[in-house]
Amino acid sequence: MQKNDNINLDTPVQFLKGVGPARAKAFEALDVKTAIDLLEYYPRDWVFVPQSIPIRQILPDHNITIGGIVESCDWQPYRRPAIFEAYISDETGMCRIVWFHGGFLRGKLEPGMKIYVSGKVAEYKHQLQMNNPKLVIANDTRDENKDDSTQKLGGPVYPATANLSSRQIKQVVHKSLENIIENLPEFFDKAFLKKNNLIGRKKAFKWIHAPSDEEQIAKAKRRLKYDELFLIQTAIALRRYKATHFSKALALNCDDKIDSRIRKRFPFLLTGDQDEVIEEIVRDLSANVPMNRLLQGDVGSGKTVVALYVALLAVANKTQAVIMAPTEILASQHFLSIERYLKGSKVRRLCITGGLTGAKRKEILGEISTGQADIIVGTVALLQDDIRFKNLAVVIIDEQHKFGVHQRAMLRKDTTPHCLVMTATPIPRTLAMTAFGDLDVSIIKHCPPGRGKVITRYIQPHDIPKAYDFIRERLKAKKQAFFVYPRIVDSANGDVKAAISEYEKLSKKVFPEFNIALLHGQMKSADKQKIMESFRKGKIDCLVSTVLIEVGVDIPNATIMVIEEADRFGLAQLHQLRGRIGRGASNSYCLLAAETENPEAKSRLEIMERSNDGFEIAEYDLKIRGPGELFSPRQHGMPDLKIADIRNDFQLLTLARKDAFAMVENEPMLNTAGNRNIRTELIKKFGDAVGLIDIA
Ligand code: ADP
Ligand code: MG
Repeated sequence: MQKNDNINLDTPVQFLKGVGPARAKAFEALDVKTAIDLLEYYPRDWVFVPQSIPIRQILPDHNITIGGIVESCDWQPYRRPAIFEAYISDETGMCRIVWFHGGFLRGKLEPGMKIYVSGKVAEYKHQLQMNNPKLVIANDTRDENKDDSTQKLGGPVYPATANLSSRQIKQVVHKSLENIIENLPEFFDKAFLKKNNLIGRKKAFKWIHAPSDEEQIAKAKRRLKYDELFLIQTAIALRRYKATHFSKALALNCDDKIDSRIRKRFPFLLTGDQDEVIEEIVRDLSANVPMNRLLQGDVGSGKTVVALYVALLAVANKTQAVIMAPTEILASQHFLSIERYLKGSKVRRLCITGGLTGAKRKEILGEISTGQADIIVGTVALLQDDIRFKNLAVVIIDEQHKFGVHQRAMLRKDTTPHCLVMTATPIPRTLAMTAFGDLDVSIIKHCPPGRGKVITRYIQPHDIPKAYDFIRERLKAKKQAFFVYPRIVDSANGDVKAAISEYEKLSKKVFPEFNIALLHGQMKSADKQKIMESFRKGKIDCLVSTVLIEVGVDIPNATIMVIEEADRFGLAQLHQLRGRIGRGASNSYCLLAAETENPEAKSRLEIMERSNDGFEIAEYDLKIRGPGELFSPRQHGMPDLKIADIRNDFQLLTLARKDAFAMVENEPMLNTAGNRNIRTELIKKFGDAVGLIDIA
């Protein structure tokens, strides 16, 4: 069989023209296994070489391109300015080319090469020449890969590896492009494409790999990005459709009596934002469709209060509620604050953690399964298989910024409780629509009133002694402080400050008159809890720790935070850490100490200085760093984006989302002739990650 005679989209690359076993391996390293993978291996750039003219036809002051053989090269550093001079010739003549300060061309340009130069023609001493033209080397005779006659100049530039050059990829794509494209199915009808200003799918693949101008690239990109986003949004829409149509939850009733009884539990009025969010949640809970809601609110914005409201609503309906926290410290803190609010209440609440064993654990599990326990607070330990609930109606997950997707899925395995996920990480809209696209979103924007300001300063290590004096004054006034370090122990060369050694220094040398404690992840959980408790009670003045205190700690009297080696933390993490202070009425101070020349690290610290707005910080973070692992589609069972970029393609994302949700609402099985190609593609791309597909 002749290669390329009979290829379809799933043909292994090895059977494409120009690919042998060794190249196939190199392609596989790029995740390119089949013909369609090859087409979806998009160029990262494109180069266009303008039409060249014979040297004899050049005229002064015109922008032109000429092509020819390099006859001579000469680097003349002694000239003012220094120049790199070359002469090129074609059949019609010879032309002098000059690059001012062209030292970079030494060793790069040599006689015998074929080159193209574009630029303006000038006159110098009655001779025509080109100054500083753009250069394309067409045929580097030193290259072992001899020029391929089918190869056009310029064109796509592919992300290459040591074993596979852009040029080799280009050749392989070029030879098979037409053959592969023949088999590409279209997803949409003409009217739809026209309405959305999209070109056909075949054309899009052709133009992305072999465009003749920038406009074709733009049109191809738009279509391919749209498809990529549309498919992800369809998967999300299907998942959501399944969650809302194929499983039932307990409908919870909330009348005025219940509402006012719950509100009496709080020693303050709920804020407008809290009220609004509760209204949205109550509306969800009143239906027998499981709620899937994400509650976003900066640290200290009052999410725990909302969580307790929801849990109490479940209890008022004679059902159970679970509140899950990512760490034991946070779970016991949730439990403590719940205890505070529920003093004297008949509601039965339990705290269950990993440390629980033996008879005690059995007893507690019994209370959960018989329904004696109303509100159950705990960590992931709650997820162990032997825990059965009597009638679990609501699960509230305080994930802070650790999105445990699997945990969420597990909890919903055999029951379908309403699910509220709370996060203190402000998620930019684009990300919320992709990573969490199957959740409804509620936002608490404003913190409860009466909070002091948080003042942030980016300082140098040599400012630290001054900072110590400032902190000493605050400690004398009975305020408390956090000191945070990136590491527990010193690094091998000791150039990064670490919690243990700094603890020694702070407690013995700097603040011997105060009570300093150390907290880190390698301590026993009982010890950690004890220390947190003493800190909360004010018996400890300074807590020296690693990022452990990041999650949910709520101590209004702690008004100082020093983060050393602050350049080693990401923006989201810095913002989270800073959220531990500023919870009381007096002003708080966050000192970020770092010595760095890295401009990106500096700008992170500067934005921290400038802004306290979590959403602003998150948007900025997304801009400079990209969506990162936490939010990558892969985390959610979907492949990473190959061509779309959620940082820049928000409008297209919005459009694709609207279209995808409308399609699924209309025809959830995607079984009609018009939708079947989409369905096939979804199964191929996402497999099991798409919920509905397995039903049909
Ligand atoms: P989050 O869980 O979002 O970090 P919390 O619910 O722990 O925030 O609330 C932070 C602090 O604000 C707590 O001390 C809480 O008692 C207080 N708080 C919450 N809601 C209000 C409110 N409506 N008015 C006054 N204080 C509130
Ligand atoms: Mg909280």
